[in-house]
Amino acid sequence: MAKQRVFSGIRPTGRIHIGNFLGAVQNYVKLQDEYESVYCIVDVHALTTLEDTSNLQQNIMEMALDMLAAGIDPKKSILFVQSHVPEVMELFTLLGMVTPLSWLMRVPTFKEKARQQPENVNYGLVGYPVLMTADIILYKAEVVPVGEDQLPHLELAREIVRRFNDKFGPTFPEPEARLTQFPTIIGLDGKEKMSKSLGNFLEVSATPEETRKKIGAAVTDVTRIRRTDFGHPQMCNVYSLRKYFTQDVLDDLTVACTTAKIGCVECKKQLAEGINRALGPVRERRAEIAKDPAYIRDVLADGAKRAQALARPTLEEVKKKMGLE
Ligand code: SF4
Repeated sequence: MAKQRVFSGIRPTGRIHIGNFLGAVQNYVKLQDEYESVYCIVDVHALTTLEDTSNLQQNIMEMALDMLAAGIDPKKSILFVQSHVPEVMELFTLLGMVTPLSWLMRVPTFKEKARQQPENVNYGLVGYPVLMTADIILYKAEVVPVGEDQLPHLELAREIVRRFNDKFGPTFPEPEARLTQFPTIIGLDGKEKMSKSLGNFLEVSATPEETRKKIGAAVTDVTRIRRTDFGHPQMCNVYSLRKYFTQDVLDDLTVACTTAKIGCVECKKQLAEGINRALGPVRERRAEIAKDPAYIRDVLADGAKRAQALARPTLEEVKKKMGLE
């Protein structure tokens, strides 16, 4: 039986952090064997929020490098840059003709972004879910790995697909969500989702020493003031991170924390060592691949070629159905 096709886009924010790694990239690596995988570095989406684009090319290369180091295999997956397949812009425009503005105005992330950047509420920002839909359906992807926070976007994509199919006849599969195993990773501030813009992140490519320093400064259970206070693992983000990196000793840690047998300083040291152990092989691969930037460019060029071969017939079909050809 033919494999289903999975699509996912990731913003070119440069080097990936452990939130990206646990929440998305590690999952991409697993999905490669199960699905025909199409992974896209979405540079056009980045323009909706970026004021300064001078680092964009460098960020794309860093992200591709990190994805390859994490285990994305170009023989199994198509890895490419969104703008290298310009057919997506055409489909974006055409889908705009079947998408009511009211659907876009009610998207929670649009309202949030408009609040965050009131001086730059651009047309691309409101159209973001339409471009995201174009990204997915241009390749007729059937499955999209998403975190829970992205479910409303995917539902909107499904609504756009239904509307298109109703109007012009069955054309696209309705993409299904595949929830990632690690939906949301909270940042080292212990409050918000890990993100570059909030500065609460740890890069996968950090050195062991940088890792120790950053984890050493991470916020723990804020109710634990003195070393002798009993800790509350369920209120501690360091504990949440230890679930991923030092899982084997978690039961002992729960007891030690709740009885104050371990202090937060020691606990964070153990987490940092766990991260360094777990990411060691990825960091080594990264250093190897980084020696050959031409290889990364070749992977992306080949990915764009393969993606375009899927995109062209879809766009032809859409144009015919919409009466443009
Ligand atoms: S000992 Fe560890 S799990 Fe317990 S509060 Fe401190 S950092 Fe958190």
